[in-house]
Parts: sequence; structure tokens; C-alpha cells
Amino acid sequence: MNHNTSRRLVLQGLVASAIAIGFDVSNSSWVTSASATSIFERLPVLDGVVYTDNTTLAAAGVDFGNIVHRQPIAVLKPGSTNDIVQIIQFARRHQIKVAARGQGHSTYGQSQVEAGIVIDMSTLNKIHFVGTDRAVVDAGVVWSQLLQQTLQQGLTPPVLTDYIELSIGGTLSVGGIGGATHRYGVQVDNVLEIQVVTGIGQIETCSQWQNRHLFTAVLAGLGQCGIIVKATIKLIPAATNTRVFQLYYDDLATFTRDQRLLIDDERFDYVEGQLIARDAGGWRYLLEAASFYSPPNIPNNNLLLSDLNYTRRTEQIEDKTYFDFLNRLAPTVAFLKSIGVWSFPHPWLNLFVPNSAVETLVGEVAASLTVADTGQGPILLYPVKTKHFQLPLFRVPKGKIVFLFAILRTAVPPDNSLVAKMLDDNRKLFEQNRDLGGYQYPVSAIPLLRDDWRQHFRPFWRYLVNAKRYYDPDNLLTPGQRIF
Ligand SMILES: Cc1cc2nc3c(=O)[nH]c(=O)nc-3n(C[C@H](O)[C@H](O)[C@H](O)COP(=O)(O)OP(=O)(O)OC[C@H]3O[C@@H](n4cnc5c(N)ncnc54)[C@H](O)[C@@H]3O)c2cc1C
Repeated sequence: MNHNTSRRLVLQGLVASAIAIGFDVSNSSWVTSASATSIFERLPVLDGVVYTDNTTLAAAGVDFGNIVHRQPIAVLKPGSTNDIVQIIQFARRHQIKVAARGQGHSTYGQSQVEAGIVIDMSTLNKIHFVGTDRAVVDAGVVWSQLLQQTLQQGLTPPVLTDYIELSIGGTLSVGGIGGATHRYGVQVDNVLEIQVVTGIGQIETCSQWQNRHLFTAVLAGLGQCGIIVKATIKLIPAATNTRVFQLYYDDLATFTRDQRLLIDDERFDYVEGQLIARDAGGWRYLLEAASFYSPPNIPNNNLLLSDLNYTRRTEQIEDKTYFDFLNRLAPTVAFLKSIGVWSFPHPWLNLFVPNSAVETLVGEVAASLTVADTGQGPILLYPVKTKHFQLPLFRVPKGKIVFLFAILRTAVPPDNSLVAKMLDDNRKLFEQNRDLGGYQYPVSAIPLLRDDWRQHFRPFWRYLVNAKRYYDPDNLLTPGQRIF
């Protein structure tokens, strides 16, 4: 596509209704969607394309949550980092809000921007380099793509999310937790360097050693201070195989005690867990653990299962390739897509619960929660060690161990009153957990107020406010998080 075409596409789709979308600093006048046509004519020449057609705009106004819908006035599919610089500088001149979109797997409009510009990062998807201990990637690369490439060299990122079709920029803006977190922290703890375009439209490189203030403001920083364009991700040697153990428990306290034991002695490479509905009502507990190995070194089942108090003869043990294990959600996702449920509303709730409160809180929830409250969505419960968490904006309760408790609801049937009830339930549980010293993991669908964010980031709220003022002084970036 040549540059003239790119500019023409901008002009095609603009709707002539007069909604104020920004303030034109150069002319000291309000920009409306009607006057935006003339403003977009001043757009610089780009390597990528700006789309304003209704189909593209509508797609950027929906996410996996399918609850919030905010339509932008333009979507940039960048052809280079410089495009992002140009668009942010342009947006700044006209005071138009901007948000990056990775794979749009947010659940509550976090990557959307009403009457603003969405930057679809999926076109910046190059893996630049894979070395013996690191990979340099564009932020639009998805984790499965990186994993497939690193495995060719016998390497892997240390921590992967349960679903690996998420963008690297998208998970680094929130944290990125998975079954290996008890060993290696979250994904943001395994980043050596990032390149960022700030809200001023400047490209900056930062790490723990260089420009550290920006590094700590952007990783798990919910897109408030800059758009990640490249990341250097740590790699470790990968095994070829995985032995997966599924162990069932009837009792919450025994289940969590064994989970704590396993993350403490690190006998497994991966530890997670779930609440599973009983046919007769109520819940039992599934401990999922995995041991990564490369033959001829085979895991010793007896050693791995020693001292565990799962319900006897419930254990299921299965061998998979390392990649198939990490890609284990793919068949389920394909099935949910095929029956249309993947596009139902998903009012997901993700909480970090203090270690001391987990049995009380989860016990209370389990006593009243039914499958109708989750729409058969999974309920995750697993502990992680906090000692590996390095980034201040990744907020978790105090203590050496915290539990991820995630009720991944689907609204079935997909009607508004059920979604409203689920959001209300999320809010109540969020408050109950907060009052116990817990935090939300901000990939959730929870109606939040500014005071909630102030409390969430305390004692780093001032730090974030100052970083925001410095790196995004016009408050343009990522309004969908509703923080500023
Ligand atoms: C099926 C499924 C499974 C999941 N499993 C896990 C899991 O196991 N562990 C876990 O931690 N999370 C999990 N998540 C949550 C997921 O990590 C977050 O929702 C993540 O933000 C989604 O990535 P994305 O690429 O779709 O980002 P998007 O939804 O597109 O964006 C998320 C946020 O990041 C911002 N953003 C996107 N790209 C950039 C960038 N380059 N620079 C700066 N900001 C950016 C957006 O503006 C937005 O605010 C899961 C989500 C789904 C739907």
C-alpha cells in the first residue's frame, strides 16, 4: 500500500457527526469528528495504514470481554515504530486519546478508546533475534509465535500464561502470570530491556540499568506512560516433554496445604489449581502440576507425589510434548469458537488473595457459588511466591505467598441483566478481598472508581501520577483503564 492510499483511507470512513474528540492545540479550537477530516489530512506520511472504515472501527470497539464497546475514530496498523511516534505526536497536537491493542483479550474495554485512535500492534510482529539467553521481539508478537521459534534452539521464556495467543506488549502491560510463576515471577520479571514510545511521542530504551524510572513505570503499568514497541525477553533451556499430574481433593484446606508445599520445595516446574463443580452441587479441588523433562531423564512419579494428601486413586498422569502442554488451551478455545461461546460476554474476575485469608474467602465463595454464576467458566486457585516480583506496579498483597483466585465467568445466556449481575458480584468480591488486604489483578471486569486505583497502587500511586505527568503530560494514553 503506498502512502497516498494510506492517507486516502483515512478520509474515506470519517463520519460527519459533530462529536468533540479533542482539542486542536495549533488552532486553539475543539476537534469534532466532523472537523477531523481536515485534521487527518495533515497526517504525516506513514509506513503503515490508518483505517477509518466501519468494520475496522467496530472491531477495535470490542474485546474478549464483550461488555464494554467504545469505538475509535481511527485504527493505525503501524508499519514501523516511527508510525507510532508520528501518530502519538499527531494525537498530541490535536489532543486525541490513543491506546495500543495487542490481541484484544481484555475483558472490560482496557484497550479501547472512545473517539480516539487505536494502535493495532499485531502488525509489528517480528522476532528480531534469538540468542542463547534472550530474544528481541516486537511487542505485537504473540507468545506462541515466540515459543515456537525459541524451541527450535532448545530455549523457552521462563513463564508463560495459560493461553499463549496473547501479545507480548499486552501481557507486559499487566504482568503475565502462569504455573511457573512460583519459580520465576511474572513475565515482567523476565524482561531485560524494552523500547517504548512515550506519550510525548519519544522513543526511549530502558532497563533495570538504563532509564530505570521509565522501565518500572511501563512494565505492569497498564499502558499509562508509554507504548511498548520492542522487548528483550529472558530465555532459559527448554525441556522437550512434560509429565502432567492432575490430583483431586475433597477439601479446600488439604488442597491449599499441598499447593503451598509444592511451591515451597519446587519439585514441580508448574503448579496451578482449579475448583471443579461436583455433579451433586458444590466443588472439589484439582491440583495441576507438571514436571518438564527431556529423555532419558524421566520424572520419578513416586518421589513427585510423596507427602501429598490428594484423594487416593483420583490421580491422572499424562505425558505431552512441552509445546503441546503450553498450548493446551488451543483445542478448548477452538471448540468454544466453533459453538459461538467465545464471543459471549466474559465478566472475568482475577484477584490476588492474601495467604492467610484464602481458606476463609474461597471457602465462603465456594459455599454459595453455583455453575450458573460462572457459566461453566473455570475457577482458578493457586499460590505463587512473591519474592520474585520485582516491579512495583505489579500489585499483590503483603506476604511471602499470595493466591491467584480467578472466576472466569461467561454470561450464558449472553443477556445484559446477567452481565450486570456478574459485574455486581465481581465488585462485591473485589471489595471483600480488598478489605482482607487483597488486590485485583487488573485484567478483570470490575467497575472501579479513581479511589480504587489510588488504593490499588498505594504506596506507588504518587510514583505513577508523577510518571504519568512526565511521560504522558497530556493524559492521552490508554484511557480504557479508567485510571486517570
Ligand atoms: C483466554 C485468556 C487466557 C488468559 N490467561 C492469562 C494467564 O494465564 N495469565 C495472565 O497473566 N493473563 C491471562 N489472561 C489475561 C491477559 O494476560 C490480559 O488480558 C492481556 O492484557 C491480554 O493481552 P492482549 O495482547 O490481548 O492485550 P490487549 O487486551 O489488547 O491489551 C491489554 C492492555 O494492554 C495495553 N497494551 C496492549 N499492547 C500494549 C503495548 N504494546 N504497550 C503498552 N500497552 C499495551 C492495552 O492498551 C490494554 O490496556 C488471559 C486472557 C484470556 C482472554
